Amino acid sequence: MQENTSKKSELKKSCVNCGAELTYAPGTTELKCNYCGHTQQISPSEDSFKELELAPYLNQMGSQSHSEEITMLHCKNCGANQHIEENYKSLHCVYCSMPLIIEDAYKEDWILPGAVLPFQIDQAKAHAVFKKWVDGLWFAPNNLKKAAIDPQNTKGLYSPFWTFDAQLYANYTGQRGDYYYVTVPYTSTVNGKRVTQNRQERRTRWTPASGSVNGFVDDTLIKASKQKTGVIPKKVALWNLQALQPFDSSFLAGFVTEKYTIPLKEGHLEANKEAKVIATNWACRDIGGDTQQVSSLNMRLSDETFKHILLPVYISAYSFNGKRYNFFVNGQTGIVSGQRPYSFWKIFLFILLIITIISVILIFAQNG
Ligand SMILES: [Zn+2]
Ligand SMILES: [Zn+2]
Repeated sequence: MQENTSKKSELKKSCVNCGAELTYAPGTTELKCNYCGHTQQISPSEDSFKELELAPYLNQMGSQSHSEEITMLHCKNCGANQHIEENYKSLHCVYCSMPLIIEDAYKEDWILPGAVLPFQIDQAKAHAVFKKWVDGLWFAPNNLKKAAIDPQNTKGLYSPFWTFDAQLYANYTGQRGDYYYVTVPYTSTVNGKRVTQNRQERRTRWTPASGSVNGFVDDTLIKASKQKTGVIPKKVALWNLQALQPFDSSFLAGFVTEKYTIPLKEGHLEANKEAKVIATNWACRDIGGDTQQVSSLNMRLSDETFKHILLPVYISAYSFNGKRYNFFVNGQTGIVSGQRPYSFWKIFLFILLIITIISVILIFAQNG
């Protein structure tokens, strides 16, 4: 009986026609065979998202419900934990391009994702976006342009995040500030004469305030990847979470999935900090006036739930002068950003060119 329970994370997907690997086709709800073109519909999930109750997971992290084993490869160079589909050809770390050794694979528990945001743009499109971005960069080293030519360097990654929901209740005390203006006389010297003039100055009248606020905090998004060098830029890390789908491992086929390296407990602490910011904003709105000070805030969260979710991003890793650079393309929106190296020689030669042009102009001006 137990032998039959199929695992959600590691179901094999192969083509019914030719046996080749099926991969998820971005922007669709289909798996596609890269050899014969056969497509297979991903059956829509009956379940809605699984919001998990937080307390049992925090109290006993070993909690086995909703977690299962997955094959992971650990990058010894940068520390990323990644799950790669069995048929994946090039085993290189998505972050640092270090080769990964299949023999190093090991089984590990992970809390099953509650939802996944499937890739909407495919690798070719992401690569085109990346290439266009590189072409538009000034003073980029030639090696960078070369890296941009090789599509092998752009890889699709499902990056792990935690989201938290909670009912928030907070008591606060503080001060309400209302602006008023006073006329202040001042003297100055005009044409050698001392004159008295008036100017308006803003003052704030403070009155004590206190009260309580409450509301629902929905989908606080907290990154679950510890990556220091591969931090997804803010500009790229904006997804429309309305498009989340209930988790189905079919969406992962052909992509790399990173396992969370920031544990739930730590993620929850971050979410609490964000909740505090939200509560403070609510308190300020509640106080009213032109400006506010919150001196004490007592916050309580209840009915806390969380989800482990996977969000799509294309990464291109590139090494220049011993330094590592990552470039990112949002797998849903196609927004691109990244760190970039500057070519010393290109800048040097450019400055030299400018100096030469100025010199030539000066010489002509003198002779003319
Ligand atoms: Zn096929
Ligand atoms: Zn790595």
